[in-house]
Amino acid sequence: MRQSELFTKTRKEAPKDEVAKNAKLLIRAGFVHKEMAGVYSYLPLGLRVLKKINNIIRREMDAIGGQELFLTALQDKSVWEKTNRWDDSVVDNWFKTKLKNGSELGLGFTHEEPLTKLMKEHISSFRDLPAYPYQIQTKFRNEIRAKSGIMRGREFLMKDLYSFSKDENEHNSFYEKAKGAYGKIFASVGLGDMTYITFASGGSFSKYSHEFQTICEAGEDIIFVSEEKKIAVNKEVYDDKTLEDLGLKKEELKEEKAIEVGNIFSLGTRFSEAFNLDYTDENGEKNPVVMGSYGIGPGRLMGAIVEIFSDEKGIVWPESVAPFGVHLLRLGGDSEVMSQADGVYADLQNAGMEVLYDDREGASAGEKFADSDLIGIPWRVVASAKTAAAGKLELKNRKTGEVKMADKKELLEEIANY
Ligand code: ATP
Ligand code: MG
Repeated sequence: MRQSELFTKTRKEAPKDEVAKNAKLLIRAGFVHKEMAGVYSYLPLGLRVLKKINNIIRREMDAIGGQELFLTALQDKSVWEKTNRWDDSVVDNWFKTKLKNGSELGLGFTHEEPLTKLMKEHISSFRDLPAYPYQIQTKFRNEIRAKSGIMRGREFLMKDLYSFSKDENEHNSFYEKAKGAYGKIFASVGLGDMTYITFASGGSFSKYSHEFQTICEAGEDIIFVSEEKKIAVNKEVYDDKTLEDLGLKKEELKEEKAIEVGNIFSLGTRFSEAFNLDYTDENGEKNPVVMGSYGIGPGRLMGAIVEIFSDEKGIVWPESVAPFGVHLLRLGGDSEVMSQADGVYADLQNAGMEVLYDDREGASAGEKFADSDLIGIPWRVVASAKTAAAGKLELKNRKTGEVKMADKKELLEEIANY
């Protein structure tokens, strides 16, 4: 893509009321736009990153049998009354609205209730189970504090998968698979080393739920980490009893701030019983379906990546989620520079690379360098009078800061082999 055609601009300052590092950088670099506190729009660069994250999530959900669907954001009050979750004193973060005739609707903050009701039309026999529907869809939550940028939105994207199983055994075996898939997702986006499977409160059907917590200064949670065992305990369940359950000693745990990037939850039969979602087994007997829920916030994940992978100059995207693989800067407009830059732009694209080509006429070399560091694309290639004369290009790795001169062939090899 030619940067002269990209409508978004970088800016020197983030809005005054923005306190989160992730949002400040993403706004300055033109990835997101702040509509209001906790409400962000994704601009073309930001949407490219979000789509990459979503596709990594999709790949792993599909690999464990997930089937993507897309549920509505507008929700029927009566569905929520069945589980007593319509009441504002029970769920304090509802956004609600009304039809012209006065009847109330909710803007979905999660989807257990409507999905359980929907699945009644498709599940009646043991032959219909298990089932693993999931979606990547907008949720609405009237969060009290929205000071963490895109990590805590009042309107935000969630990947939510729900499992429908015949019994505890079938449920547990999927639950373990989901843990594995989550591990792969966080590793793929570059957060593997700092993300810990964390024991957290479980609700009424299992003692613990599992959160995926990424260690991060800007995190809102406190966890106690065992680096050796690669697990952690959320402060909310951190007591002598839990440590005993998990065979952990206080001395081996380190207190850290962390952000919950995902969580998985056993729901038992709470929802299936409320909606009479049952199935007939091989012996002709009726049983309630056993459920689980599995969430990830793609926007929160993107925010966490920016919090962790950034420096004083800007963002440092991991390759797997970067908006482009290569940022090609053309400095100056001589015909030699022009033809060198245009040539390498075509070559990089022919080699299958995604290239942002800074061909802007009106921007100085200093501005192009600063923008490139801010936007954070993994590889920077510079074509200038100097490189044109040398018959080589300058290649820089955003993460390591390493710079070298390379001809086109070396350049392609270097990037491809990284
Ligand atoms: P938290 O404890 O941080 O409020 P939660 O436990 O309420 O989150 P879930 O309802 O389990 O979160 O949502 C599943 C996932 O959706 C979370 O693990 C997180 O990644 C993401 N998520 C939740 N709330 C938000 C939000 N306000 N903005 C962005 N992502 C969110
Ligand atoms: Mg939580």
